[in-house]
Amino acid sequence: MQIGDLIRRAGRQYGAAPALVDGDRTVSFAEFDALTDRLGHALLARGLAPGDRVAVLVPNGIDGVVAYYALAKSGLVRVPLNARETPHEHAFKIDDSQARALVHAGAPSAQVEIMIAADELPGMIEAAPDGPCDVRRDPDEPLRLAYTGGTTGTPKAVVLTTRSELAEVDNFLVDLLPNLRPDSRMLHAAPITHGSGAFFLPHLVKGAANVIVPRFSPPAFLEAAQKHHATTTFMVPTMIGMLLEDPATAEAASSGALALERLCYGGAPIATTVLQRGLDLLGPVFTQLYGQAEAPLAITCLQPWEHTPDRLTSAGKPYTFVEVDIRDSEGNSLGVDDVGEVLTRGPHTMERYWRRPDATAVALEPDGWLHTGDLGRWDAEGYLHLQDRRHDVIISGGFNVYPREVEDALLAHPAVVEAAVVGLPDDTWGERVTAAVVLRSEADPEDVREFCRGRLAGFKRPKAVEIWTDLPTSPVGKSLRREVRDRMLARNGNEDH
Ligand code: AMP
Repeated sequence: MQIGDLIRRAGRQYGAAPALVDGDRTVSFAEFDALTDRLGHALLARGLAPGDRVAVLVPNGIDGVVAYYALAKSGLVRVPLNARETPHEHAFKIDDSQARALVHAGAPSAQVEIMIAADELPGMIEAAPDGPCDVRRDPDEPLRLAYTGGTTGTPKAVVLTTRSELAEVDNFLVDLLPNLRPDSRMLHAAPITHGSGAFFLPHLVKGAANVIVPRFSPPAFLEAAQKHHATTTFMVPTMIGMLLEDPATAEAASSGALALERLCYGGAPIATTVLQRGLDLLGPVFTQLYGQAEAPLAITCLQPWEHTPDRLTSAGKPYTFVEVDIRDSEGNSLGVDDVGEVLTRGPHTMERYWRRPDATAVALEPDGWLHTGDLGRWDAEGYLHLQDRRHDVIISGGFNVYPREVEDALLAHPAVVEAAVVGLPDDTWGERVTAAVVLRSEADPEDVREFCRGRLAGFKRPKAVEIWTDLPTSPVGKSLRREVRDRMLARNGNEDH
């Protein structure tokens, strides 16, 4: 089966029902099928050949979705670029993926052989022939390249195939969205280039509409959720934090104006305090996903009914068709409570890193197990508890300190709204735990530090707490501890010398 087959069948089965909604524009299932066919033909007519990479840099919206699936139908490899990244980052990815074409809105950030402005798309679609565009490719050939977040240096592209994409749909339908029906509604508030995009096909195949918000803000989200009776959405934890800070959220929830059945979240750790507040306000709709670009959104999940007070620090249990193992540095599987690296295996995981055999060899075992780089442990009931990224662990006085645990303790302080904890070099301790916090109301850094006393062992407590006006985050809202650390080091370096 090819991705185009799913679109064609949805077109036949759900015809005039809305498939895509963006502001005042609606595209039906039949139209979506026809638009992607025509654009597929038009792309091939521009001289592109199956297997060529095409970078797509357009804002969250219908054009991007049509382009993505036209590429799938014409056998071209999608390279989604996030509009919120810098031109420098775009240029790197265009070059690294050896893209032959760039579909862009606004001024192009790089020159490639075939440039297609987004406002040319309607004309290309208009001029293209009717009829199915059905370039059939081997299911193990690349379908799309997904760049890793770059929280650990140069981004790498993960190669995802048709086989992995279909397996991702399986995982979602089995474990996350088993009750999808034609009147379900997915609200894409986060960039479709990332996690939210994984919700597109599961909704499409079940005849449910995908509604797109061009750019997330709590009011834009609340308005669209109410107007379209959104039943599913996906957010990174930062977005949930912002949503809960807005008083309109509590109003909408208490007046029964929200139809949300599943608020899926993941991509980064969530603070227990934020999650608890969310549950209090929005009810048992929260569903946590733990995944990574290399294993798209599906390693473990914590279902709504598993969000009990003792489980809020857990990332859940493995998806039905995904294997998960925790291993020590020698590769032995660990049992309950021992911390080791999380490995995963399943048909949805990456095939390899693009043009990085060195990195592929490190990440993928010959038998298909993928090293996630995350540290975690099992509890006695088989729930995974993530500790931190392996490279973020701070070693202070010989003890391992997991920044996430310290950040959680800081976030429990009523004035703290964001926290990032890093290790700075220290002559006595090896590394010293240092925190940067953003406040919602005034507080003394010493009080914030003292607040940790009853909550954290001495070696975990920050030796210093700095107050920052904001913390650096990646374009998809991940906290960039590396950047925090670099800034602290640069400043200390300047002061010391
Ligand atoms: P990316 O490949 O950019 O999507 O980043 C994936 C990484 O984000 C994972 O390896 C984890 O470190 C982190 N992550 C993703 N989901 C979760 C989650 N539910 N809880 C904690 N960390 C997460």
